[in-house]
Amino acid sequence: MTNKTYGFDTLSVHAGAAPDPTTGARALPIYQTTAYVFEDADHAAALFNLQTVGFIYSRLTNPTNAALETRLATLEGGRGCTVASSGHAAQVLALFCLMSPGAEIVASSRLYGGSLQQMRNTYPKFGWKAHIVDADEPENFKRAVTPNTKAFFIESLANPGGVISDIEAIARIADDAGVPLLVDNTLATPWLCKPIDYGATLIVHSTTKFLSGNGTSMGGAVVDSGKFDWAVKGTDGGGKFPSLAGPEPAYHGLNFFETFGDMAYTFHSHAVGLRDLGPSQAPFNAWLTMLGIETLGLRMERHCANAMKVAQYLEKHPAVAWVNYAGLPTNKYHALARRYLPKGAGSVFTFGVKGGYEVGVKVVDSVELFSHLANIGDAKSLIIHPASTTHRQLSDEQRVAAGAGPDVVRLSIGIETADDIIADLEQALAKATS
Ligand SMILES: *Cc1c(COP(=O)(O)O)cnc(C)c1O
Repeated sequence: MTNKTYGFDTLSVHAGAAPDPTTGARALPIYQTTAYVFEDADHAAALFNLQTVGFIYSRLTNPTNAALETRLATLEGGRGCTVASSGHAAQVLALFCLMSPGAEIVASSRLYGGSLQQMRNTYPKFGWKAHIVDADEPENFKRAVTPNTKAFFIESLANPGGVISDIEAIARIADDAGVPLLVDNTLATPWLCKPIDYGATLIVHSTTKFLSGNGTSMGGAVVDSGKFDWAVKGTDGGGKFPSLAGPEPAYHGLNFFETFGDMAYTFHSHAVGLRDLGPSQAPFNAWLTMLGIETLGLRMERHCANAMKVAQYLEKHPAVAWVNYAGLPTNKYHALARRYLPKGAGSVFTFGVKGGYEVGVKVVDSVELFSHLANIGDAKSLIIHPASTTHRQLSDEQRVAAGAGPDVVRLSIGIETADDIIADLEQALAKATS
């Protein structure tokens, strides 16, 4: 399955999952094992020295997880992938080998609230600093660069504001600054957008969402494009990424970039990142996510078509103040959506209710078909009022900046019959405003 001429939907079903060579089983086996028997002492030594590729212990690698890694790397057009226990674990893992105390990143203010939380409150405990900037103006990234900057971080399609970043413009600035651009591609999925095509270096995912697609499995992933020169020098003439392109003490001074080239990042994130931080994904979750990805294209097509119908309906509703869906021609991000997400603007978006916080809370209390919960990307339609839930910990100002003000309701439109989804919102809005 390395044939690059296969279409996206074929690769979604087949990449990484050939029939099992030992048993002929057609479905991917769940390798529910902690460890793997060595052939002999020499084989064991070679594995531990990273001189041969193989399985040692499932904290580092597992064959079911490896199948998911191959599939995601293939779909994103990347060189390698590392799966993790959650999207947030993947974000820490993604930055781990780039960062050290005093290192900085520049990140978009429109990120998912949980990611902003990580950056503002938890990364400082590692000595990492995040400059949060308005990504609508790509030049803001350039202005925030210092000699300690190690990465830029954006979302292709941001949760929940429906904000679309100009990936190509920000990737160019990252290139000039000699740093990798990380793109959280959770909401778009590679079916809608492949950020590596626009110059992104690393893609992070919460596979918990559209990739698994059924709201069953926590998971995350980091996909490496394999295109970054990790031996790049900083302004002081020293190596900017010593973990990847300097001697690694945990492997007798091995230089990952010299040894593994375009697989350096992926090898490091397994052999050092997963090994020492430990956020490995359960093989059962990887297996469920593999099943989910088989129908990714079918689901995304329906998700997007339904979202468009719901957005058009809400736009005309007298109780609705505004609808923020980039698929609508009136939307501020419509031009960027057509460029980066030509097949559809996803199915997570926000709208504002007239009457603010109170009415927003009443809408989520009145739905019947929608589920009121803190998730997105399920086949089922989901609803939440971010100001009272996911974005609660942010200040009023930060909430508005993140697109989660008091009147905002977030929808994740599922794949049900569109008329039923609309009828449920109709009755909920009627109840909330009566
Ligand atoms: C949910 C989400 C995350 C975090 O992922 P988890 O799997 O919940 O840890 C990160 N980014 C975005 C855009 C998300 O929607």
